[in-house]
Amino acid sequence: VASGREAGNGVGIQDPVVGVDLGGTKILARLVDPQTGRAVGRIKANTPSGPAAVLEAIVDVVNELEGSDGASTVGVGVPGLVRPGGVVDRCPNIAGWDSPVSVKAELSSRLGKSVVVSNDVNCGAVAEHRVGAAKGIANFLAVFVGTGVGGGLVLNNELVEGGRGMAGEIGHVTVSPGGRLCNCGGKGHLEAYAGRAGIDAEARRRVEAGASPLLVELAGDGKIKSRHIERGLKDRDSLTSELLAEAADALAQGLGNVACLLDLEHIVIGGGVVDKLGQGFVDQINDSDSFGGVGSEMVKIILAHRIDDAGVVGAAILAADDGH
Ligand SMILES: [Zn+2]
Repeated sequence: VASGREAGNGVGIQDPVVGVDLGGTKILARLVDPQTGRAVGRIKANTPSGPAAVLEAIVDVVNELEGSDGASTVGVGVPGLVRPGGVVDRCPNIAGWDSPVSVKAELSSRLGKSVVVSNDVNCGAVAEHRVGAAKGIANFLAVFVGTGVGGGLVLNNELVEGGRGMAGEIGHVTVSPGGRLCNCGGKGHLEAYAGRAGIDAEARRRVEAGASPLLVELAGDGKIKSRHIERGLKDRDSLTSELLAEAADALAQGLGNVACLLDLEHIVIGGGVVDKLGQGFVDQINDSDSFGGVGSEMVKIILAHRIDDAGVVGAAILAADDGH
């Protein structure tokens, strides 16, 4: 019988699960061992516009993936708000996806497999929990600082999604009432201070007003990247230091408050900006006068592991859990 239930299926994984990471530019599918997080095979496609074409592309990458016929379960991580039941409300990073789509129902009927759909940041949190920095930790918030700031909450060893799929979304807690404009249209949100897009916008505003232009010059025609921030820090650029201090203060305030509210002993922090700046940035957060709640002595902030294809691995683990 051609079944993935035997380790002799050619891919060496018992009970493999297909993990899919739907990104704004690429779709990636791999065959995952949900016990260890090991992934084999790799099929990539460009993300097309509009949900109908995206669903078709996901079906194609899964079918092309060697060994996927031996997997009965597929986990899909998506860059948008996932409502209970696998309905994806909207994906701001995917052109033409601005109304709800039943991704779970559509994909399971086309693939003939059981499908679990989750937010991509939540998938990253689950990957950290099971095969990364939070292994063995029952209660934590995972925070990923990249273009924006995303978060995933695990309590009692379970991912908490919330009634509307928004639990753990620390990027949109307010750290400065009436402050910087956030990508979501709100004001003073954490993401506007710690996310790369927020740092980029504020850097340009201050350079216009006469601040040190190094960061903006390093970025050239493009956006300010994590490596530019790292370089600005190394060169002791005054604007870089100011913006990073403000990012650390905002994170300290937000993370401290969440740790206090939920009695968290651990917070896992990762993402492009943190990966580049490392422990020095974590120390800066810990030392901030703005640390919220009961202070940094009560919560340990630990660096995320840089798990390869964490979104794919986490989606597969969530899908495997769902089947048990
Ligand atoms: Zn916001």
